[in-house]
Amino acid sequence: MRILDCLSDPAGWPALQEAAREIAIANFGHGVFLRGLIEISNYCRNDCRYCGIRRSNRCVERYRLNGETILACCETGYRIGLRTFVLQGGEDPTMTDEFLVPVITQIREKYPECAITLSLGERSEASYRALFEAGANRYLLRHETVNPVLYGDLHPEGMSLENRLNSLRTLKKIGFQTGTGFMVGVPGQTIEDIAEDLAFIRDLQPEMIGIGPFIPHSDTPLGHAPAGSVELTLASLSIARAICPTALIPSTTALASLSTDGRIRGILAGANVVMPNLSPVEERSKYSLYDGKAAFGAEAAEGIHMLERELNAVGYHISWDRGDYKH
Ligand code: SAH
Repeated sequence: MRILDCLSDPAGWPALQEAAREIAIANFGHGVFLRGLIEISNYCRNDCRYCGIRRSNRCVERYRLNGETILACCETGYRIGLRTFVLQGGEDPTMTDEFLVPVITQIREKYPECAITLSLGERSEASYRALFEAGANRYLLRHETVNPVLYGDLHPEGMSLENRLNSLRTLKKIGFQTGTGFMVGVPGQTIEDIAEDLAFIRDLQPEMIGIGPFIPHSDTPLGHAPAGSVELTLASLSIARAICPTALIPSTTALASLSTDGRIRGILAGANVVMPNLSPVEERSKYSLYDGKAAFGAEAAEGIHMLERELNAVGYHISWDRGDYKH
């Protein structure tokens, strides 16, 4: 069935989710991979209209982690059993290669068997290459939307869909396992746009796919817009699973934040990754992309046992494998 037909047919969503779940089980069994998320900086030079850490939000208390703290977060995660560390942040101009390369090199030396994922936005090809050579293996960069007009409406001048897509191509060329994705329900987005985003993902065949609901942040221009629909997010996620059967797809924090059973419903709709938060507890709430972010409870590194119980209750379990993409 065409992607748009699936998205437009809520009556078919339960069957769609079931089919996606079966595809995930056929490829991964009932294991769910973990990624420890370290939010390394909430400084950002960009001004995306949906994002709580955008440059013009003066209400955010800004922080950045130093190398020592980032390594301490990895150590905490490693002891818990996490084998992938995701360094995510705003586009902080002080997060230069001079800063990042030694940090990545140290993580690589200390934890040779672990995967290092970066999610630091758009950088030059030379920078991506330096970070890859220092030992990073994966990069997450959501394309956000393939509709250039909507892209322009949501992002500040100076950012463009073309640059975003070029970055994705560059990351793939360098050899990163590459992740992309989008928000569901961002203001101005139509169901046709979502279908186009999914068709783009089908053609790109990224190793990782992040799809979560838009959630307003009160100190942004879109602060009064309604949140995206959980059901439509799940349907989009299931289609992503159907068109990319072996991709690594997280049940996103945004989904868990919007609905108490969101994380489990994401797994049951075909997701196979959860990203517990490993950031220092004092900083966790400052990395607020949207209101009401889940960062404690089962969404936190400290809540791993709770997560295991939640997964067990629906017949799943944590897979302690590092969980690389299998071609
Ligand atoms: N600066 C990095 C990391 C961005 S944060 C980058 O540019 O890639 C990771 C993702 O969070 C973004 O790609 C976006 O899709 C999502 N996000 C940002 N604001 C959000 C909001 N209000 N609701 C839901 N998701 C949001």
